[in-house]
Amino acid sequence: MSRYKWVIVMVVVAMLAASLMMTIANRMESVPALASPNGLPVIVIDPGHGGLDGGAVGVDNIVEKNINLQISLMLRDIFTVNGFQVVMTRSEDISIHDESVKGTRKQKTSDLHNRLKLAGQYPNAILLSVHQNKFQDKRSNGTQVFFSPNNQNSERLAQILQADYIQTLQPENTRAHKVAGKNLFLMTEATCPAVLVECGFLSNSDDAYKLIDSEYQAQFAFTTFRGVMHFLELDQPVTTAVDLYQLSKWPVQRPFTRK
Ligand SMILES: [Zn+2]
Repeated sequence: MSRYKWVIVMVVVAMLAASLMMTIANRMESVPALASPNGLPVIVIDPGHGGLDGGAVGVDNIVEKNINLQISLMLRDIFTVNGFQVVMTRSEDISIHDESVKGTRKQKTSDLHNRLKLAGQYPNAILLSVHQNKFQDKRSNGTQVFFSPNNQNSERLAQILQADYIQTLQPENTRAHKVAGKNLFLMTEATCPAVLVECGFLSNSDDAYKLIDSEYQAQFAFTTFRGVMHFLELDQPVTTAVDLYQLSKWPVQRPFTRK
């Protein structure tokens, strides 16, 4: 599909998302604050890093935090038009540390604690943390999904996502999903189903240039969304961007039903 068509799709998605959110916002006034409106899990999307913390810097000074945010905003829109309540840990280039905390290191810690606290407010959350990888060996490439050890559903979600990325986007990728190490704070602390997706390696120029491309970002976001649908065992009338484009002709509704 041409870049032009993808841009149209994303604009349509964004417009639909905006109108839906206004509708939901109007309704939310009479709904208890943290309830999921339709029984679906709340999708907590965490674009890694932000503000002072750029995350990994890859080839040609490509910065992780921006890619994380771009893919996350697409994810937000796709989940939203499909009837999910979405909570973003950030939706702009900021750190969400407490105002009173000074010093970069402490601010990073405060930022992570606040992200965790936010996810913890939703008892039926699924946490999707979006990151980019980096490694000394510039040949290293491909998506890898890490899962939280605290909830048995995390591993299943990671396994499904890893398989979907390989099948849809990266047939040569031989990486396996993996339990998160102690360095991934959100994964070691979160109690809901939680995964951290390292979308690709910014130290690898093929990966890096794909990951800054809005068309690939949209494909990545769609694949992630579809993986979560597999995990939830929901029907999938929307499987491609072309189908999603047809949403412009649909009334805003929840096209997914439980099997
Ligand atoms: Zn990162």
